[in-house]
Amino acid sequence: MSSVSAREGYETVIGLEIHVQLETRSKMFCGCRVQFGAPPNTHVCPVCLGLPGALPAVNEEAVRLAVLAALALNCEVHRRSVFARKNYFYPDLPKGYQISQYDRPLATDGWLELPAVDSRPACRIDVQRLHVEEDSGKSLHDRFPGQTAVDLNRAGVPLIEVVTAPDLRSPAEARAFLGRLKQTLEYLEVSDCNMEEGSLRVDANVSVRPHGSVELPTKTEVKNVNSFSQLEKALTYEAARHVAILESGGRVQHETMLWDPARGEARPMRGKEEVHDYRYFAEPDLPTLEVTEGTVAWAAEQIPELPWEKMRRFQADYGLPAYDAEVLSATRPLAAYYEAVAHACSDPKAAANWVMVEVQAVANERGLAVTDLGVEPEQLAELIELVGAGTLSRLLGKQVLRRMVETGKTAAQIIDEEGLRKVSDERQIDGWVSEVIAEHPKEVERYCKGEEKLLAFFIGQAMHKSQGKADPDRLREALRAAMGRLDDESAGSA
Ligand code: ZN
Ligand code: MN
Repeated sequence: MSSVSAREGYETVIGLEIHVQLETRSKMFCGCRVQFGAPPNTHVCPVCLGLPGALPAVNEEAVRLAVLAALALNCEVHRRSVFARKNYFYPDLPKGYQISQYDRPLATDGWLELPAVDSRPACRIDVQRLHVEEDSGKSLHDRFPGQTAVDLNRAGVPLIEVVTAPDLRSPAEARAFLGRLKQTLEYLEVSDCNMEEGSLRVDANVSVRPHGSVELPTKTEVKNVNSFSQLEKALTYEAARHVAILESGGRVQHETMLWDPARGEARPMRGKEEVHDYRYFAEPDLPTLEVTEGTVAWAAEQIPELPWEKMRRFQADYGLPAYDAEVLSATRPLAAYYEAVAHACSDPKAAANWVMVEVQAVANERGLAVTDLGVEPEQLAELIELVGAGTLSRLLGKQVLRRMVETGKTAAQIIDEEGLRKVSDERQIDGWVSEVIAEHPKEVERYCKGEEKLLAFFIGQAMHKSQGKADPDRLREALRAAMGRLDDESAGSA
């Protein structure tokens, strides 16, 4: 049996556990600053170092952000929840336990819509729980040869952990769900979700079962997946490994696998801990976490228009195609920028094209976001109007945009200073046309013999002579007319 047909007989079952760093100024249980990239062990104190006698105190901002995320994920937020100690020994865990939540988490029973993937229509993926916890420190293996160093700046940084039901049925769905979750959390501004810096980390539970089976077979957990493409690769690898084991009559071991992106393979890291290995018990140094009515009301009010809602509104309000609306609602700043441009100019579809294509291209060249180019929405709108009115050709418009980014000046200023106005003057255009004809006798002959596609070549040459300033419509007319006269002449002389 080929591996392809074997895989076709199986269904992949995936659940995700996602850790998200909350964007607070200070840590979860102490006043230490949260700052990525700070010199090692400079943001630490007796609380996050776990020194004897130090007592934790809850960061209320972190709780507010967690409640906001929970509401947006349609969870039930529990008015009372309990912090618990999760005990394990690891060099980057100074207290010997992590303060987390266990049997009474902050929020449960939510869902988030997964967009349509392949043949599966859009559907809800259950979010089983969302709880608050602190991060561990970081082991650094690359600072001192042969030794591991520990940086505790990250110890105690606030996290939420979001656990989905095993509702996902393919690596592509897992990737799409993670994308939707990340985008939602970014819109909420509860986290920067920067995967390279570890603000968003994914562990995935995966198992495979024969199609039609409803049992939950033995799963493995894949850790250390730090990008969308690696998530898809790791899950594809792991599902294929399970199928191979089952096909050979073996049994999948319940274990934790470490994904190695460089080698493209997952290696067993340790036998999977059972829950009792952690000896969870309620954190004696913290009271029950109470979420007030006021906090829930505040959070409900904070939920912004979410990306898929914005996308629908962009289609309705500005007549955009679904694709444009989706691209322009990808992030909140981009959506706000687009809307400001659309409001400031008379053609929202033209505004969409300019933002998505021309402005995006300049931004990409510079490795910047569209909103960081320094072109104000009103300034871009002015440029779009100038092109729409025919004062500038589109080609010139692109040049002016570049100059706007370089100089910070407006389109009108640049046009005046650099004489970039589109040239429609007949005599000037005829001049360029005559030069091009004189310089390319062979092409002219071929054109006159019926090779009409050469017109584009002549237009390009003449446009180049005009430094992009010639009005393309007038130029085409002038070239056609000139060629027509040549044709007549050659016919007359024959
Ligand atoms: Zn501290
Ligand atoms: Mn956790």
